[in-house]
Amino acid sequence: MLKHPIYLDYNATTPCDERVVEAMLPYFTHHFGNAASRSHTFGFQAEAAVEVAREQVARLIGAEPNEIVFTSGATEAANLAIKGVYEVYAQKGTHIITVKTEHKAVLDTCKHLEKLGAEVTYLDVAPTGLINLQDLEAAIRPDTILIAVMYANNETGVVQPIQQIGALAKSRGIIFFTDATQAVGKIGVDVNRDGIDLLALSAHKMYGPKGVGGLHVRRRGPRVKVAGEMDGGGDGRGMRSGTLNVPGIVGLGKAAEICKAEMEKEGARLAALRNRLEEGLLQIEASFVNGDKAQRLPGVTNMSFPFVDGQGLLMALKGELALSSGSACTSASLEPSYVLRAMGLDNELAHSSLRFGLGRFTTPEEVDFTLQQVTQTVQQLRQLSPLWEAHQQERDTGGVERQQG
Ligand SMILES: *Cc1c(COP(=O)(O)O)cnc(C)c1O
Repeated sequence: MLKHPIYLDYNATTPCDERVVEAMLPYFTHHFGNAASRSHTFGFQAEAAVEVAREQVARLIGAEPNEIVFTSGATEAANLAIKGVYEVYAQKGTHIITVKTEHKAVLDTCKHLEKLGAEVTYLDVAPTGLINLQDLEAAIRPDTILIAVMYANNETGVVQPIQQIGALAKSRGIIFFTDATQAVGKIGVDVNRDGIDLLALSAHKMYGPKGVGGLHVRRRGPRVKVAGEMDGGGDGRGMRSGTLNVPGIVGLGKAAEICKAEMEKEGARLAALRNRLEEGLLQIEASFVNGDKAQRLPGVTNMSFPFVDGQGLLMALKGELALSSGSACTSASLEPSYVLRAMGLDNELAHSSLRFGLGRFTTPEEVDFTLQQVTQTVQQLRQLSPLWEAHQQERDTGGVERQQG
């Protein structure tokens, strides 16, 4: 039996893996110590658990444990990275390069710094969602202090050429920050192979709890400094004060350990399910996939269904499918997705797009049901659409030839 609605919004958040919850539980009750308490076993136990988690997280991204700073999530990690670099390196320069399709955690932080005197270049993307490396190179100036490019996009799953970006940044002596929230735990991320100096991640996108995440800060080659945004006590090597969320951190560590062990198998399974869904949905007339189909996370597809309003489609499907159109954060508003707009879609096409996010607990039966539901609903909604009628008339009366002529 299928449980309804079927959850297909894994890019917005994931359920906690039961194994993660089990690992966390003792740290709410028996092992409740403050990891900063240095005078008794309660504190030592909590600290030991945090150090285990630090290693688990580091191992997942090829980093050293002492390069991980725990935060409340990826939003805080991105703020800490970008503002922290700006504060430390402002004497060297005030220019930052980022991309129009970044998450708001990065874009709004850059906007904030613009008010404080930073100059920010927002790179365009190709219709594939990928940046052009020549554009990036051309944007570099003598006063560029930071390149911020996300690893994988939350709306389309498109994976940027991170290794090349890292190599370019390194050759120019510029710090490279990547928001890897969607990539970590889903595909192989390695801060050394990829030339990453700063990396943001979040537990709740990888089957861990909400409200905990981390920032990787490179310690060697080069040693990167970020100024803390939170003052008070100086935990986290002075970069992030505040009592550590020990159960959350234990959960993040366990989630990282599971991802590392199961990522390869899970990725192959999800890619097969996603492809099955995508190929099925491409049978719907005029539908298409948004974003590069090769450079993409395994579990996600973003598709447009022209002549159908995405919001109407979501409403019609709501009882059966939990999906999102555009980004989770902006889907409450009726603004079309700025990510799809940056990829060249007009407002109308951006409005007729849905994101299908599959994950660890998605089954083949759920995929087949989704395929059938979406196909049927798109067809029903099109029957009511005057635009669809006009499109069909045009097609039947040789509109295609007219277009060619
Ligand atoms: C979810 C997400 C964030 C925000 O992470 P939180 O831990 O919820 O703050 C940032 N960037 C990307 C790409 C995301 O998908």
